[in-house]
Amino acid sequence: MNTKEIFNRLALLLSLLLIYACVREIVPATGERRYLGFSWQQETEIGKQVSKEVMALFGVYRDPKVERYVAEVGNRVLATSDLRRPGIDEQIRKTPVTFGVLDSPIINAMALPGGYIYVTRGMLAHFNNEDQLATVLAHEIGHVAARHAARQAWQQQLGQGLLLGGALLGQGLGLPAQDILNLGSMAAQLIFLRYSREDELEADKLGVQYSSAAVYDPLQVIPFFQTLERIQEKEGQAMPSFLSTHPNPGNRIDRIREMTGSARPKRAIPTDARHLTAIEGLVLGEDPRQGFVEGSVFYHPDLRFRFPVPRGFKIINQPTQVIMVEGQNRAMLGFTSAREKSLQAAVTRFLNQPGLRILDRGPMRSNGLPAYVVVADAQMQNGQVARIIAYFVEYGGMVYHFVGYTAPQLFNSFRNVFLQTMQGFGPVQDPRILNRQPVRVALQTVRQPAPFRELIPRSLPAPFTPEDVAILNQVELNQRIDPGRILKIPAAR
Ligand SMILES: [Zn+2]
Repeated sequence: MNTKEIFNRLALLLSLLLIYACVREIVPATGERRYLGFSWQQETEIGKQVSKEVMALFGVYRDPKVERYVAEVGNRVLATSDLRRPGIDEQIRKTPVTFGVLDSPIINAMALPGGYIYVTRGMLAHFNNEDQLATVLAHEIGHVAARHAARQAWQQQLGQGLLLGGALLGQGLGLPAQDILNLGSMAAQLIFLRYSREDELEADKLGVQYSSAAVYDPLQVIPFFQTLERIQEKEGQAMPSFLSTHPNPGNRIDRIREMTGSARPKRAIPTDARHLTAIEGLVLGEDPRQGFVEGSVFYHPDLRFRFPVPRGFKIINQPTQVIMVEGQNRAMLGFTSAREKSLQAAVTRFLNQPGLRILDRGPMRSNGLPAYVVVADAQMQNGQVARIIAYFVEYGGMVYHFVGYTAPQLFNSFRNVFLQTMQGFGPVQDPRILNRQPVRVALQTVRQPAPFRELIPRSLPAPFTPEDVAILNQVELNQRIDPGRILKIPAAR
């Protein structure tokens, strides 16, 4: 997605927000009519648009077995929810709800307005049974049924958040982050939307209600919350996680106990085995097939290229682009593939963009590959000017495109930093890189009772530690495990 497309989408979404900012409609979860920021129709429109951005930002985990499983559990809970309650608005009852799996190792779930519900593969891996998945999906359905996003929009919190969202990444640069990437755009605001504590409690209450009605045990979610706390303590995740968007877990656990009361599902079989079978083979942690950094070099085994990452730059690897940001946010380097298949076509389109003042340009070579460089001043959306260096290189039937951004007065200090990465782009032949495979979930049934740490393999694939594997299984390292239990073990192929 290029800058212009991001803006067009942003403008469209903002106009939706600003034009239709007042409706009085039904809230399915309570049956009352309230003032809302979006009509149901707008909610579904916004959800549909933003869901495309969510999929582009994280990537979709394509595995029919896993996708089917999540949709099955989601639909089971949905059927008992207020979105399907007899007597509710036909328009709402007929709205399809999408359940999807995002290809991300972070642990999160999200509900977009109008019924787009996502769970990450990282979260799926950390669930121990179907009840945990069902209760989290029911919580997310609760947000949709209570129309929390539309209620927030009515209170204008959302609109303000959107307008202020630009500062996320570009601060030191004076560039709004939307100029460069989708972070900080409307989508990111909705994705990382923080609901109020009241909204979270209401979603918990609805989640408990819906999952119980679907004969799941909501109390199972408690050990999962404890797992999240352990992860948070251990590392503190870089990306917003379920915990940071869902406040005060200690308190939540007590409330969920209260809400559930003594009603327990009358069910013969535990759901552990079903869940574990569904996630057997799931990718764990980062997927190196989509690119990885080793020794300050970024490698993409599927596309067979590499380039050095500038020293002191953070790297964000998204399915459609790689972003490298200088430690103090003073410079940024983006990498993506061009739509055009020839170097000349890609360069021509770039040069014809409005708002560019070309300072220098000419052909180059990069490890024997044909390349082209452009230095220009670019007018940013906030009226400021950034000096950029764009670099195109043709390889393997594709054109790859780097753009380095910084303030004009800093350009001389970053020019060579950018160029080093750009001209360091080249092919990869090393089979050790090309054949790198992700770590996956393997299942192992316990035969003899033993402490957990004695049951897992001595050597685990990097970067997994015994503690990680204990967290993954929601147990303590010294905890005695009974025979018959199935464990999740990270396995390299
Ligand atoms: Zn929530």
